[in-house]
Amino acid sequence: MSRRSEAGVVIAGGGLAAQRCAETLRKRGFEAPVRIVCAEDEAPYDRPPLSKDVAAGTADGEAVRFRDADWYADNAVELILGRRAAGLDPDARELFLDDDTRLGWDELLIATGAAPRELPMLSGFANAFPLRTLADAGRLRAALAGGSHLVIVGAGFIGQEVAATARRQGVEVTIVEALDVPLAGILGERVGRWIVDLHRDEGVRVLTGAMLESAAGNGRVEELTLAGGEKLECDAVVVGVGVAPAAAWVAGSGLDPAGIATDYAGRTGLPHVYAAGDVSRPFDPRLFDHVRTEHWDAASRQGVAAGAAMLGETPRPPALPSFWSDQYGLRIQYVGHAEGADEIRVCGEPGERDFHVLYQCAGTPVAALTVDRPRELAAMRRLIESSYEGDAVATETYETPTNAPEEAMP
Ligand SMILES: Cc1cc2nc3c(=O)[nH]c(=O)nc-3n(C[C@H](O)[C@H](O)[C@H](O)COP(=O)(O)OP(=O)(O)OC[C@H]3O[C@@H](n4cnc5c(N)ncnc54)[C@H](O)[C@@H]3O)c2cc1C
Repeated sequence: MSRRSEAGVVIAGGGLAAQRCAETLRKRGFEAPVRIVCAEDEAPYDRPPLSKDVAAGTADGEAVRFRDADWYADNAVELILGRRAAGLDPDARELFLDDDTRLGWDELLIATGAAPRELPMLSGFANAFPLRTLADAGRLRAALAGGSHLVIVGAGFIGQEVAATARRQGVEVTIVEALDVPLAGILGERVGRWIVDLHRDEGVRVLTGAMLESAAGNGRVEELTLAGGEKLECDAVVVGVGVAPAAAWVAGSGLDPAGIATDYAGRTGLPHVYAAGDVSRPFDPRLFDHVRTEHWDAASRQGVAAGAAMLGETPRPPALPSFWSDQYGLRIQYVGHAEGADEIRVCGEPGERDFHVLYQCAGTPVAALTVDRPRELAAMRRLIESSYEGDAVATETYETPTNAPEEAMP
């Protein structure tokens, strides 16, 4: 269903969730203006290839764009690039930009994603950077092409993928991880140890339970010192210590800058304001809570759901969250909620890099991880979904009758 309007939809943020929302609106016949405001100078692009093909030099910025320039022109989606959303007035239905422009909206989507957490001791060094944007990927590519010693701080999935890509380029890699077993709290100790072994087998030096104490160099980090005194020489440092919602700019609007709570249609507590993707905390009907995910699948689905909800549709409850990671030619996939699992069953040969892990809680499957078994994921998903069948799946929808379409397009 479409509606007639002057102001139309404004989307703050120009990544995956933003793109999916704009596509959904146009596909379903919405004819009013759609404007995407993005802090980056780039038209919307896909991030997963940044740590894989773009870092390896087998894909460039053009290859990762969701759509070419003609698509935006043909679909009348206006891109306002290089501009930041700086605030909003929900009563006046205005978005403030960093150049003092004000954009009026009928419906607003907040899709500003997440920003990498910083390590203050490394800020200011030209060769220490996170990996979130195409510009970051360009710096990483240059560092890898130089063949060098790369230090990665943090053994999360981004750090792991960078390590895998760098090793394939013949770069010497050290990972510095503060935890004794990376990702143990999410995936369990056994899987965390397997991840460490995988990288060590590929020639990565993985230092666990290791804390950075200081960084030295003249404009560029040349040497890192760990607590305990060990020194690491380096040519570049990738900081992969997690991300936080890029939502400081909503402070004072009534929304939470620590992650914007929504129902599963993306509606926030403010009429006409939606949020989707890494910036949001949608209500998860299985966990009875608002939960933030930082994965492609969720951002894509949430962007579509928000677009549909703007048109008055009620999306179905969300699928189980899932993600994938590609390392050393292996595809690692995960589905469900392993938090709170009290039993972990491993099936297959972890040493052969061919296995799956089923996470159970009180005998009920709640999550699964597969390694190099892409065909198993759908069956795992069905198994876990079926364990929720018969349970009342909780729903939470905000009372937002003013979001209903005011007028159908002729
Ligand atoms: C290197 C990398 C590899 C990844 N690999 C995988 C993977 O293999 N599998 C997987 O499931 N997930 C992966 N992800 C995660 C996935 O890409 C993200 O979950 C997804 O991009 C989130 O989409 P989003 O639209 O919410 O945010 P983003 O894609 O981050 O887009 C948000 C956009 O908003 C802009 N912005 C920020 N603040 C403002 C502001 N105030 N005003 C205007 N614009 C603003 C940002 O510059 C950005 O362009 C990866 C992420 C990265 C960074």
